[in-house]
Amino acid sequence: MTTTAFITHRDCWLHDMGTFHPECPDRLAAINDRLIAAGLDMYLSFYDAPLATQEQIVRVHPANYLEELNASVPDHGIRHLDPDTAMSPGTMKAALRSAGAGVLATDLVLKGEIENAFCAVRPPGHHAERGKAMGFCFLNNVAIAARHALEAHGLERVAIVDFDVHHGNGTEDAFRDDPRVLMVSIFQHPFYPYSGADCTAPNMVNVPVPAGTRGDAFRTIVAERWMPALREHKPQMVFISAGFDAHYEDDMGSVGLVESDYVWVTEQIKAVVEECGHKNIVSILEGGYSLSSLARSVVAHVKALADL
Ligand SMILES: [Zn+2]
Repeated sequence: MTTTAFITHRDCWLHDMGTFHPECPDRLAAINDRLIAAGLDMYLSFYDAPLATQEQIVRVHPANYLEELNASVPDHGIRHLDPDTAMSPGTMKAALRSAGAGVLATDLVLKGEIENAFCAVRPPGHHAERGKAMGFCFLNNVAIAARHALEAHGLERVAIVDFDVHHGNGTEDAFRDDPRVLMVSIFQHPFYPYSGADCTAPNMVNVPVPAGTRGDAFRTIVAERWMPALREHKPQMVFISAGFDAHYEDDMGSVGLVESDYVWVTEQIKAVVEECGHKNIVSILEGGYSLSSLARSVVAHVKALADL
């Protein structure tokens, strides 16, 4: 059995974009419920996420962007930054905990206290560009964690795997000029945010797929496009932008993955990290909006991380 950490914080429930918004606190409640129902809570190490510090955030986002975000927090009600991204009074607390979760996970893994970690956090992060909140995202959690591994722990090569149904434009924005970071991703295209298909950066392995793509095609892409790039990069640590909105039951996208696909890809990632001589994996929640399939998929993914 592997020591797997489960990192979250009650503050992540405080961010609220309105009654009918799909990126809602109930997502974390659904994950919690399912985790307990599956009896998985007994096998994981639980940690409260700390607040990310300014020093950790400015490795990805300029200080003036952080100031703008802080100044945009409403005293009450909801303030929209774009048609689908809004702030409530608790948003920055939640965003700082989300980013802090990835930083803590990185520290725990690199100190050898755990082998891998899943961060059940919101708001998500992979659409947040260096200077722009968008697509339900404010701070790029996975990018902040990856930069923490590079800058605070001195790692030389890391990889980011993104299997959310949407392209991780923010993560690409953060790392397209940083050859220490390999990003492999798959995303429905053409689809929000309409980026990624034309990127020529050698450290970005973007694989756009049409609506209707199912698990068999997904597995072929992972085997033929992601794995060779990962083996060549030899990452000392892998970060996962774990979005579960490519699930068959998730209406947000039109890709048809199921739990067994998430288990399979998790096992593939574990295998390639071990081939490179490490076990270090930090997985951070991104999308996933059908509460039932989100929670089932997270449990399947965490079980695979923990060798259960
Ligand atoms: Zn998504």
